[in-house]
Amino acid sequence: MSIARFWRETPRRYNLGGSRCTACGTVYFPPRPVCPECTHHRQSIEKMVPFQLSGAGEVVSYTVVHEAAEGFEMQVPYVLALVRTDEGPVLTGQVVDVDHGQVAIGLRVRATFRKLREEGRAGVIHYGYKFSPADDPGGGPPSPARTGTVPAGSPATERSPT
Ligand SMILES: [Zn+2]
Repeated sequence: MSIARFWRETPRRYNLGGSRCTACGTVYFPPRPVCPECTHHRQSIEKMVPFQLSGAGEVVSYTVVHEAAEGFEMQVPYVLALVRTDEGPVLTGQVVDVDHGQVAIGLRVRATFRKLREEGRAGVIHYGYKFSPADDPGGGPPSPARTGTVPAGSPATERSPT
């Protein structure tokens, strides 16, 4: 399956489908058709495979945004962070479900699927990933949809993508 086809067919509810170079092991998000690390050897041709990121990572840089871009006005101030995923790629996204003062470099986070913004006139709603703390300090579930299904106090429990 081609990367482009994989991208289209990946469920939009969890859109962290990247690609991995089987020649050198580098993971890319968004997915790439060839591996820049290997291209000069022509080794990565036909070597790229779809790879689903776990969404787990840690904050490597962040900023508090007070002046929002168009469409984000209702959300200011918000924290925009660079998150280095456990697989390697660095993603940019909002950090939610946490006091701004608690966001710090090294904070463990996990990508969650949220409404990003709404275009009032057209009524178009954009969805995508945001980040929330991986170790929930308040004990509450990160999403109302998951209420009651996640045992409290077991932050080390991970589901590996099989
Ligand atoms: Zn490679």
